[in-house]
Order: sequence, then C-alpha cells, then structure tokens
Amino acid sequence: SYALEIKRFAEEIGVGAIAFYAHASAGCLHIRPQVNLKDQAGLKQMRLLAEKSLELVLKFGGTTSGEHGEGIARGEFTKKLYGPELINAFQEVKEVFDPEYLLNPGKIINPPAMDQKDLLRYGPDYQAVYKPTQTLLNFETDLGFDRAVEMCNGAGVCRQLDGGVMCPSFQATRDEGHSTRGRANMLRAAMTGKLGPNGMTSKELYQTLDLCLSCQACMTECPSAVDMSRLKAEFLYQYYQAHGLPFRSWFFANIGEISKLAQVFSFLLNPILNSPLARLLSMIGIHPDRQMPAFAKQTFTTWVGKQYFPEPEAEKPRAVFFYDTYLEYNYPHIGQALVKICQKIGVDLIILNEKVDSGRPAFSKGVLNKAQKLARINLKLLAPYAEKGIPIIGSEPSVMVMLKKEYRDLVPGPEAEAVSNSAMMAEDFLVSEIKTGRVNLIFDQIPRSILFHGHCQQKANFGTGSTLELLRSIPNSSVEQIEAGCCGMAGAFGYEKEHYSLSLEIAELGLAPRVREADLNTIICASGTSCREQIAHTTERDAVHPLEIFSAALA
Ligand code: SF4
Ligand code: SF4
Repeated sequence: SYALEIKRFAEEIGVGAIAFYAHASAGCLHIRPQVNLKDQAGLKQMRLLAEKSLELVLKFGGTTSGEHGEGIARGEFTKKLYGPELINAFQEVKEVFDPEYLLNPGKIINPPAMDQKDLLRYGPDYQAVYKPTQTLLNFETDLGFDRAVEMCNGAGVCRQLDGGVMCPSFQATRDEGHSTRGRANMLRAAMTGKLGPNGMTSKELYQTLDLCLSCQACMTECPSAVDMSRLKAEFLYQYYQAHGLPFRSWFFANIGEISKLAQVFSFLLNPILNSPLARLLSMIGIHPDRQMPAFAKQTFTTWVGKQYFPEPEAEKPRAVFFYDTYLEYNYPHIGQALVKICQKIGVDLIILNEKVDSGRPAFSKGVLNKAQKLARINLKLLAPYAEKGIPIIGSEPSVMVMLKKEYRDLVPGPEAEAVSNSAMMAEDFLVSEIKTGRVNLIFDQIPRSILFHGHCQQKANFGTGSTLELLRSIPNSSVEQIEAGCCGMAGAFGYEKEHYSLSLEIAELGLAPRVREADLNTIICASGTSCREQIAHTTERDAVHPLEIFSAALA
C-alpha cells in the first residue's frame, strides 16, 4: 500500500520514474525518485515526496529510519515521527552527556532542513564549469565526463572493509581520499572550480587519483556503477597534455615495441635482469626490489610458425586467439597450452601475426592517443572475424577487457561493438565447447588441489565462473577460489617506486596470507600476469595460468 500510494503521488507531482529497492527481511524499503536536484522544481518535488513519505509512514505505523538511522536527510522529520515528549527526552539525554553539542551536531537534535542549500551535493547553483569539454574517451553513454563523475551518490559503499573487492586503496590506507567516493568528490571539486581554474589538471587531483589501481571493482560493486578506472585514464591523459609525459609512463605505454626488440637480445638481457644491475631500472622509477620478467628464447608466434596445423575444416568451430604482449615475449608456454587444448577439442585456432599490443599498458598510464592508435589497428584485423560471429578469445583478463570495454570508448563504432560482442576469456569459450560433447576428453587422473586467485578486471567484466568450471572439470581436482580482492600489482602500479609499499599492503589484505597457508602440493593458479608476479614476489610460490593446468591434465 505504501509503495502504491507513493508511486501515485510521484506521478501526480510530475516525477517521471521511481525506483524501489528493499531489504526484504527487515521490511526496509528505499525509494529513489528520478528528480533533478540541479533545478528548483526538482528540489521541490524531492521535498514533497519526503513529506508524503512521512505522512504514509505515520499512517501505516512505520518509521522513516532506514538501516542508516535518521542522519541529516530525515532529521527534520523526527519531531513528527516521535512527538514532543520523546524529542524532549532525547534533548535531555543530549544535554547530560554532550552539553556543548560537540558530538554529531545536527543529528536528531536541532537537525537542519533536508534541502538546506549547503547540504546539497547538487543544487540549483551547481555548475561543473571546468568539466573537460574535449575528451579522448567517448563518454556519450554517460552524457559526458561530468555526468560519469556525478554517478557517485555518496552512499559510501566503497568504504567497506569486510567482503567485496572495492576499494583496495581504501582498504589498505583507510583514508577517505583514497576511496572511490573521495576521488569522485575531488573530481567534482575540480569541475566546479573549487581547485581553481586549472583544477582539472592540478597536482592535488593527480594525488587523489594516483593510488587508484584501476581494478574496476567499483564498476560492479558500487550501487551507482561509478567507473573510476575510466575517469582516471581520461584525467591522466589531460594531465599529461598539460604537464608532459614522464619517461616511465612512456616506457610502460610502449612495452609492446620495447619487448619486441628486447626479446631478440634475450640472451644478453636475461642475465642482466637477473643480476644486481637490474636495480638500475630504479633510475626510471621502478622499485629496485621488483624484477622485470625474463624474455623467452622463442616468441609464441615463432613457435606457432614451426608447428604443423592441418588445413582448417569447414565444419570445425573456429576462434581467433588474441594473445597478449607478455604471452608473446615472456610466457609463450601459456599460448602453447591453449593450442594443445584446442587441438584436443577440435577447434581451429586463428593466430594473427599482424596484431599489435592491446594498448592496455598505454590505457592504464593515460597515454590514450597511443592506446587509440593500437586499438584502431587491432579492430581492423579483428572486426571481419567478429562480424562473421567467430569468437575472439584470450588468456589475459586485462587485455580481453580492452576488447570488451575500452575499445568501445577509444574508437566507438560498429567495429568496436562487433569485437566487444565476440570477445571472451578463453575459459568461457572452452567450457561452452566442451559442453557440446563433440569430443571425449581423456585426462591423466592425477589428483590436483588448486587454489585460484581471480583477476579483478575478470571478476568485473566476465566473472570467474568459467575458469572455476574448467578447472573443476578435471577429474580428481579440488578447486578453491581465494576470497580476496585486488592483488595490489595492477600492471605497472606495483612496479612503481612510490606505489611499491601500498602494493604489498594490498597483497597482504588477503591474497598473500592465503597463499602462504597453502600446502606445498597445492597448485597456485591465477589468470593475470600481474597477479602471478605479485604472488611470486610476496610468497615465493610460483603461480600458473588455468590453461596450463588444464592442458597438463589432458592425456
Ligand atoms: S559506492 Fe559508489 S556511489 Fe557510493 S560513495 Fe562510493 S563511489 Fe559513490
Ligand atoms: S578502480 Fe579500484 S582502486 Fe580505483 S577507485 Fe575503483 S575500486 Fe578503487
């Protein structure tokens, strides 16, 4: 009855839509009306709805308190809710314990009006005058960069400390400024001129966004789906346009080309990377205790060139393998594992030698023009396959998220849409192919205990269900997913001198202690290259990719 009456009233006063959500067990109902608090008419609608809600709550014998208490927004209604006798009693208690009204001022006793101007996040005076007018990323679906920032409604779910992945930098620092909300508030302050006319490219804003690991947990765990990694990428791009690009960011953004050249000299470079001389990398801002991965003697595509692949058969399923830079130059055995699996399950794997780096490192470092250039090349190659409905699969979550999500913002259009629709984790593809029952797979029957760590961006964009299903389909395997959020490495983040200690603290929040607890016979497994590096660095345990385990188990 309450819901119907409030809905009817909302329609009467011209509110376009109203969303309801509830904690059903406690009978606690939230209503979220679609009103524009940036104009006077919207503010008026909000007040009318609040007053109507109070009237109905009193009529039905309920209370205005949600699970958050009265707070400030509902404070002015407590008088009507409790009546003068109880309010006087509250006041007496307050005066006994807090005669100077120091604790929680304005709550319960002497609350302000709910629509008092200075309490409003947005109000008729709100104007994002310094919002970026030209962005490299496409923010059209959000109606602009400013609207993407304003998605944050301030509820503070990003401050959770137990359970959930969001927000790792807050969980480690316990500092509001390093939560998703803190970052959104600072971006809003910059857009509204509170940081001065150059606030959008200011050092203060840089420092607030600097510890964001771009894990994308906020994109799924925040009730408003604030996507801070995307906002940070655009901010960094604009910041470097104003202040110049540091060498280290250039280095990571160009890791594809650098790795291509360096792998040729792997016989020279690998001994150096494994010696105290590697500490010289600290001159470009890489922490001296971090070790860059060694280069493979032979790249993945060179290995592929030496294999015999039978002519593709028309009736066989096909998939394009979008191998990543690290797999190509550092970890080709992961690609070899996928090739073996596909041969066993009868899938023709298409391997494109002309593909370039996905642009993930450039995107994360805010070198968006570089990421866009790479995206254009890859989209031209991949779109014809995607348009024919051929799946595009990959083993590195952050790279597949480029195809799924970031290319749509970098190079919006039908090619990016088609590729996004076809992009999936290799495990998702393999599970669906195996389920067709076309082939009878034979396994080695060796018992395996597997402890799996899911990559944040995989969790946020694809989920880890198929990876777990694939591993669990190996006979005699027991698989446990580690209940932990971000590993703290986040691509280049954990390599960077100034981020090194925070990176370790984040690993210690859950991942590293759980890995250390594991029996030495337990196989530690992670899909992300960064996650495997962090596990090795913090626990001295080697982690392997799920495809390696599945391939090894196939007889
Ligand atoms: S959880 Fe999302 S909406 Fe809520 S305060 Fe944090 S960023 Fe803002
Ligand atoms: S991307 Fe991750 S680190 Fe950054 S604000 Fe969101 S949850 Fe926090």
